[in-house]
Amino acid sequence: MKWGLFGGTFDPIHTGHLRCAQEILEDLNLDRIIFIPASQPPHKTDWDITPFYHRKKMMKLALEGNPSFSISDTEDRKDEKSYSVETIRHFLDDPTSNSELYFIMGQDAFHNIQTWKDWERLLLLCNFVVMTRPGYKVKDLHGILPQEFSGQFKFESASGRFKSPTGFHIYFREVTLLAISSTDIRERAKKGQSIRYLVPDTVSHYISEQFLYKDS
Ligand code: ATP
Repeated sequence: MKWGLFGGTFDPIHTGHLRCAQEILEDLNLDRIIFIPASQPPHKTDWDITPFYHRKKMMKLALEGNPSFSISDTEDRKDEKSYSVETIRHFLDDPTSNSELYFIMGQDAFHNIQTWKDWERLLLLCNFVVMTRPGYKVKDLHGILPQEFSGQFKFESASGRFKSPTGFHIYFREVTLLAISSTDIRERAKKGQSIRYLVPDTVSHYISEQFLYKDS
């Protein structure tokens, strides 16, 4: 089995996330994609992250009807930050699964990977899929990662992927990147503007009913 792991804050999940995940599922012949909402750390970041319960509920509504998509609670830790390196370890250590793992992220996230906890160890743990804009050409990893690290990866031109010394791959895959962000959706909802078609209707209704993203 080939499993995609798609982590994010998903505050809220939107059509950009969903469409890209669907394309990656088909492109890499994955059996399923597991969406992994991040925890809600007590120390706030730029905005007060919406409680895990609401973000997960919106994800459930958004993923309904797609048997290839599911949600994991693994990062639901109230009192601490979640780190991808630990999340991947969690899946690798699961004795009930011996799936090949593909960690999925946007190009923006990959460009900041050096700020992630244990990023060098992380990139050697499983396969990575970086979703890029059409026309974005990656000739090598050197422009993104330090040479002493990226030099360990071999480019396989036939498949357009980079092989790690641990035998996994980093794929750069073009997807229909819709210029939709959760930040923009939160701002629109706060101003009382429509978010229709940016998120599934069920999610839009949930946001209205629960008064999410309104000043309290
Ligand atoms: P925010 O605006 O709050 O930063 P976001 O819209 O970027 O949120 P996240 O939950 O942070 O959403 O994103 C989770 C993952 O999805 C990240 O890897 C990010 O790069 C990717 N992603 C975000 N928006 C899109 C999009 N429109 N299309 C494809 N991937 C996206």
